[in-house]
Amino acid sequence: MSTETFEFQVEARQLLQMMIHSIYSNKDVFLRELVSNASDALDKLRVEALRDDSLGADVSDLHIEIETDKDARTLTVRDNGVGMSRDEVVELIGTIANSGTAKFLQQLKEADSTAAAEGLIGQFGVGFYSSFMVADEVTLLTRRAGETEGTRWTSTGEGTYTIETVADAPQGTAVTLRLKPVDTEDRLYDYTSPWKIKEIVKRYSDFITWPIRMAAQPAAEGTSESASDDAPREPETLNSMKALWARPREEVTDDEYHELYKHISHDWNDPLETIRLQAEGTFEYQALLFVPAHASQDLFLQGHKRGVQLYVKRVFIMDDCEALMPPYLRFVKGVVDAQDLSLNVSREILQQDRQIQLMHRRLAKKVLSTVKDMMAKNPERYATFWREFGRVLKEGLLSDFENRDAILEVCSFATTHDADKPTTLREYVERMKDGQEHIFYLTGESRQAIENSPHMEAFRAKGIEVLLLTDPVDEVWVDSVPEFDGRQLRSVAKGEVDLGTEDEKKEAETEREKHQQEFAGLLTWMKDQLSENVKDVRLSSRLTVSPACIVSDTHDATPALENIYRAMGQ
Ligand code: ADP
Ligand code: MG
Repeated sequence: MSTETFEFQVEARQLLQMMIHSIYSNKDVFLRELVSNASDALDKLRVEALRDDSLGADVSDLHIEIETDKDARTLTVRDNGVGMSRDEVVELIGTIANSGTAKFLQQLKEADSTAAAEGLIGQFGVGFYSSFMVADEVTLLTRRAGETEGTRWTSTGEGTYTIETVADAPQGTAVTLRLKPVDTEDRLYDYTSPWKIKEIVKRYSDFITWPIRMAAQPAAEGTSESASDDAPREPETLNSMKALWARPREEVTDDEYHELYKHISHDWNDPLETIRLQAEGTFEYQALLFVPAHASQDLFLQGHKRGVQLYVKRVFIMDDCEALMPPYLRFVKGVVDAQDLSLNVSREILQQDRQIQLMHRRLAKKVLSTVKDMMAKNPERYATFWREFGRVLKEGLLSDFENRDAILEVCSFATTHDADKPTTLREYVERMKDGQEHIFYLTGESRQAIENSPHMEAFRAKGIEVLLLTDPVDEVWVDSVPEFDGRQLRSVAKGEVDLGTEDEKKEAETEREKHQQEFAGLLTWMKDQLSENVKDVRLSSRLTVSPACIVSDTHDATPALENIYRAMGQ
């Protein structure tokens, strides 16, 4: 069949341009990305073959092979995994499906320095395209397991790529890079050197569960290879394939953990926190979880995948195992390896499984207690955590009643106490004034909007601290969380507010009765005039400057919440 030429999708083209002019300083990571993709393809094939024995795929020796050619200046990464159909190649390699991409590219354009741009690339990870940091042409030859014809994809990364159908492609995928010339004799960047390849694989991909082999090198010319020694040399396996979660903790370095994190998450940055957990006994499992340092672009979009992979006895079973993590911890990445599950276990079965439910609870508690420790021991790291994931975590206040107190413990909120530093509820309670019974808050669209609210006047006058809640989710959880540490949470915009000591309150009461009589006529008249719009008109002690304000009943929805409901069409 003839060769067809296609154009890259706009976003893909922009990303490629960036890779070609490589702003990313650590070019070695291209190999990690190719190996990571090959490993994923082997995982997928193994799972597919297990489910469907009519697939007709060869799964007898699944592996990754790396081959270099010094003279041609090429490097090939080959796997005999699941491969791609022609349509998949166009869809997966020619376009970028990630819905956060457009936003990401915009940020990248606005980045004011190379370092900032590099940071953004790191957060996003560009996978396959990173090949173009080191190659001026990339060829991908692939055949989907179970299909007969293969596909060859070729591009220089400059706007277009070509595709042709190939009759005799081996199962799986081979990616061949034509390496850019090295200007200097810089061994550091010579990716045709087996020595260099070994070093990179060892460093970034040692834990990959499939063998990564170095294709046998042809004997160098002029070496004294005897004529009888012409038996093909054994390819060398470069990685130890040891599962990090199964190795003794003190044996594994932080760097090794971080590389596993990058493989699982497709993030190019180190994680914020690494969590290990071992469960012995009747249901044995090991978990290695990571809290990323950045929220991914699609964390709040529908269809966001949870990042915990399930393994059974070291064998990969599934990605995004939603049965293992509650939705409000969907940013957590990692691996759970269970000893006593069937390799055939399905998502449906997992959801029902009692042991899995127990594991889910234990993992959620462990993540929350890790955050609590972080708060105590590493406030800066906690601040990063909260900035990135606080909004997601607060969703748990609505869904996870068992852990509600644990979640409240690790929440922090903007406050009138200190404009620059958020406060925890515990700190708030410690600062409460004599006679103050409740924790006061006000929700709104922004800090400024809240601070300008007339509801705040009396609180400001009395120096009573108010929490300023501006996340949309705040509107919702405040109604379902009755108290923290025995103190009720009260909106300053709802119902009666009673501030001050007992004496002050008594005095205020007498005062109010006096005023009530004085203004009775006016109040009746106003109530009459406004009867269509308000339930009641009453005198208030909450204002010091403004003449009037609108208040909700204690159990009514706040105006902002009404807006949310309206937006949802209710
Ligand atoms: P990511 O791995 O984050 O999805 P990549 O850019 O690395 O992004 O790869 C894009 C997609 O191309 C992968 O999700 C996968 O579907 C497909 N792909 C890449 N390499 C291979 C491979 N060796 N075998 C099969 N599919 C692959
Ligand atoms: Mg990838």
